Order: sequence, then structure tokens, then C-alpha cells
Amino acid sequence: MSARAGIVVTGTEVLTGRVTDRNGPWLAERLRELGVDIAHNIVVGDRPADLMDALSWLASAGMDLIITSGGLGPTEDDLTAAVVGEFQGRESSLDVELEGRIWAILERLMARWPDLDQDAIRRSNEKQAMVPEGATVLEPVGTAPGLVVPPAAGTSGPTIVVLPGPPRELQPMWSVAVETEPFRAAIAGAVEYRQDMLRLFGIPESEIANTMLKAREAGIDLDALEITTCLRRGEVEVVTRFEPPQQPVYDAFAALIADRHPRELFSTDGASVDQQVAELLTSSRRTIATAESCTGGLLAGRLTDLAGSSAYVLGGLVVYSNEAKTALAGVSPDLIAQHGAVSNEVAEALAVGAVKALGASVGVGITGIAGPGGGTDDKPVGTVCFSVATEAGPQITRRLLLPGSRFDIRDRSTTVAMHLIRRTLVGDAA
Ligand code: ATP
Ligand code: MG
Repeated sequence: MSARAGIVVTGTEVLTGRVTDRNGPWLAERLRELGVDIAHNIVVGDRPADLMDALSWLASAGMDLIITSGGLGPTEDDLTAAVVGEFQGRESSLDVELEGRIWAILERLMARWPDLDQDAIRRSNEKQAMVPEGATVLEPVGTAPGLVVPPAAGTSGPTIVVLPGPPRELQPMWSVAVETEPFRAAIAGAVEYRQDMLRLFGIPESEIANTMLKAREAGIDLDALEITTCLRRGEVEVVTRFEPPQQPVYDAFAALIADRHPRELFSTDGASVDQQVAELLTSSRRTIATAESCTGGLLAGRLTDLAGSSAYVLGGLVVYSNEAKTALAGVSPDLIAQHGAVSNEVAEALAVGAVKALGASVGVGITGIAGPGGGTDDKPVGTVCFSVATEAGPQITRRLLLPGSRFDIRDRSTTVAMHLIRRTLVGDAA
């Protein structure tokens, strides 16, 4: 038997998409590490009845544990603690000592905001110190305490962990919650899971489906593994979860993928192409510079995402107009006139220009049509030309037709460029 959990993320701002949920995914990952099977992640607005419905549904679906995020603040729409207390059939009462500890935090805040209405603050302080009978209090990280609320005595429902919405408050409080006795009791059935990720580039998802068929034909018991494949930023990620005794089955599956897709499989340890490029540049003590047209600096931005990138990223030229291509990257106007700004020739000249302009060991040129307008029959929207050069000249040049919106085309272009840089650095320029 394994322990199963559901997450309820509350907040109208999350429900409507104004704020992207960071708590559900973070909690899902923590639960997996604990060997708890995450079954559902539900988002509800700041409406008590909807929260109550979500809790009822998760309880009826047999969850051992429910985690809520949000709705613990001082305002009237913050009702999670009261709803959870009621759901668990536990009467709430004022915890005077907790009220005092919250008040001490509020006093420090009030020193910064002297004009605040003291009475209103007292009332919200009292509300935040209401604790369901039998619940374990998680001390505030901000001003709101969290709770671990077991089912009412003599009943067998889920234990509910109540956490604040702001991720910087939720995350430290989670570490405290997992150490509490009622939490441990609720996940007593947890089993160890392993999770491994394979990343592939330059392969359609359907090819992976085909490889899975071949794996079954080869007698690999895929039913012993939980395999999910997903397409993300132009790469295929194969994430597999399994119990430790199934390690040999996973190893056989991973070996089959490596065997069938040796060039496309670029990561077996979860490392991203960005991390690999960083590692390759660092270990070979090489530097990189970019000259970007349609991506307007997005690749340079992505290259500088990782801490420590100042050791190898020299900089990037944003060369949107033809004049900029000439003035900054030294691309000859004749070349542009002859082949067009979106051409392999200009991409190569940009890559070489980036190397020369900044004295880099590796240069990348990108020029394309991100649309939505502006394409021609010969070069439709989505046509993007890439080149990676070293001091010795162009190494890899590609013209691709990328699908999707302007956002997709620009984003995908940075992924393609990352892979071409990687191939250049590992000496696979074919
Ligand atoms: P507070 O005391 O700050 O009101 P709270 O527990 O009531 O705490 P919420 O009101 O639900 O938390 O959320 C406060 C803010 O925290 C939100 O406006 C949002 O910016 C951020 N936040 C809440 N939930 C999430 C989430 N799931 N993912 C990312 N950010 C979130
Ligand atoms: Mg709030």
C-alpha cells in the first residue's frame, strides 16, 4: 500500500491565471521525494464553498493526506484555516500564546507602517490565531501560522496540512510540517520511488512511442515502470518513476533508448542542455558571444541565466535591422542584398562577426522570420537560420522551419541554438 496525497491550491489570482501556481509543482516534487503518490492538484478560488467541495472530493477519493496552499492572510477572503477546521469536525478556539507571537511580528511591521489602523490589525491578529482543536501549529514564517489538522477522533479521513500562499513562506514551513507526528502517521504507507529523466532533441514524440513498442517486443516489462513523455521547448523528456526493485527493468529501457536514438539522446542524468553548454564552455575555458536578429537577445539572456556565466559569456549583439547587422557584426551589405537577411550566408556572417567583434572562441548567429507577418513563399514565417562559428570559421549552419506563434518560434530558436552550440563543443558538427 502506498500513501496518496492531493493538493488544493487556493487563490482567485491563481485560478484566473494572473499568478502562475508555483506551490502545486513544488509540493508535488517534495511528495515524490517522500514516496507519497500525488494523485490530484486542484485549484480553487477564494470561496469557502469551493474549498469545501475540493476537500470533500479528495477525501472521498481516499487521500491519506491533503495539502492546502493560501488563504491564511489577515483579509476577509482568507478563510482556509476555518474551512479546514470545520471540514475535520474540529472546533476552533483562540490560541492566546500564538496570538501574542503573531502580535510581536505585527509590531515590527507596524513600526514601518505607522499609519495603520491598530484595531483592524488586532482583529486580523485574532483571526489568524484561531486554531482547530487537536491541530499542530506551524509557526509563522511571514505573519500567518500553518496547521496540521488530523481527522476527527474515531474517523479515518485524510490529515490536512494548511500552508500559506507565498512560496517563500510555504517552503520553509513545509520542512517543519513533514517532521510533525500527525504528518508522519498520515504517510506511514509511503514507499520509496526512484525517478530518472532522459532528454532527447531532434526527434518527434511519436518515435518514442515506437521505441516503447519495440521495448515491449524485446520483453522489457514496461508495466513495471510509470513512464511519461512530454514535449517541452522542442525537446522530448522521458520521465520514469519506479520502485527500487525495478531498477534493472529501467536500465534495460534506458539502454534501448540510447541504442535506438544515440544522437538524439543528449542527457541521461536530468541535466539540461543549458547546463551542459555551461559545463562544456567552462571545462574547455572557451568564451561565447552571440549576434541575434529575430531572437533579439533571447539567446544571450538564456546563456546568462546560470550563475557563473560571466566566466564564459562575453556578450551579445542585437542586430535587428540590416544596418545593425553591418555596423555591429560586420556583415557586408552586398551579402545581405545577394542572399537576403534571412539566409544561411548571413547567419554564418553573424556568427563569425560575433567571434570577431568580441574576441570570443565561439560565436552564434541567428536570423529568421518570427512573424506573424512578413514571410514569403520561399521563406515562410518560422524560417530561421542558425550558425555556430569558432575562430576557425563556421562549424554548423542550419536553416529550419519552426512551428507555432511568434513566442514559440523565438523560444524554440534559442533551444535549437543551444543544441548546435553543444554539438560544436562536443565536436559533433555533422
Ligand atoms: P498572506 O498573508 O500573504 O495573504 P496567504 O496565505 O493568505 O498569505 P494568499 O493570500 O493566498 O496567501 O497569497 C498571497 C500571495 O502569495 C498571492 O497574491 C501570490 O502573489 C502569492 N501566491 C499565493 N499562492 C501562490 C501560488 N500557488 N503560487 C505562486 N504564488 C502564490
Ligand atoms: Mg491572502
